[in-house]
Amino acid sequence: MQLVTPGLVLREVKVGESDRILTILTPEHGVLSCTAKGSLRLKSKLFSACGLFCYSEFTLFAGRTLYTVDDAQVKNVFHGLANRLDAMALAMYMAEVTLMLSPSGKEGETLLRLMLNSLYLLSEKKALPRKIKAIYELRAVSEAGFMPNLLCCRECGKYQGGPFCFDLTASDLLCEDCAAKQGLAPNLDEAALTALRHIILVEDRRVFGYTIPPESQRLLNAVAEQYACRQLDKTPKTLEFLQTVLE
Ligand SMILES: [Zn+2]
Repeated sequence: MQLVTPGLVLREVKVGESDRILTILTPEHGVLSCTAKGSLRLKSKLFSACGLFCYSEFTLFAGRTLYTVDDAQVKNVFHGLANRLDAMALAMYMAEVTLMLSPSGKEGETLLRLMLNSLYLLSEKKALPRKIKAIYELRAVSEAGFMPNLLCCRECGKYQGGPFCFDLTASDLLCEDCAAKQGLAPNLDEAALTALRHIILVEDRRVFGYTIPPESQRLLNAVAEQYACRQLDKTPKTLEFLQTVLE
């Protein structure tokens, strides 16, 4: 059976001399594993279109366990990732988070769009890696079904004003006073809370469109990372290295 689909290469594993096993994210079929025979030969028609973080149009044949790549045409390459350690480390991390969420159906399409937008902004240096990381973590985890309740303080109903605590255990909010009563400390200032609501609640195309002071972004990053790791049930392997190269 033949399958023609766009796909983003999230992982490549070299096999033997010139073969690769690819893990690609597709809009309609979720994550697919496929073998790209001979694709590491420079003369192979598959060489460039099967590279890591390449977005290509794949023609696949279903095999017993894996798909086989019959043809691949490049749709988009994120050239700006190539020579930057922080950008590549972040891309690897986002890919690992995506694979851990193993999206299927509609989730696959949403996560693919988020990943493509993130890679574009990262590659073109249109947003800081730190900002892209927090948005990706929050948005990807929410889209995969772990949507936090950010309406108001769960105890008193306060909507905003002063610091808030994003309670990572309950995935909801406490105002400073109600947090103190439960022995919790605030982890968001006003700007970080506004940005958190924005990231979780706006439509896709507006998600990167906010500006907050660096200190608020730092708070948001800490919360986003803790939230993602908690919802994923474990820390992605690529996070430790990313932390060492991210400013
Ligand atoms: Zn309260």
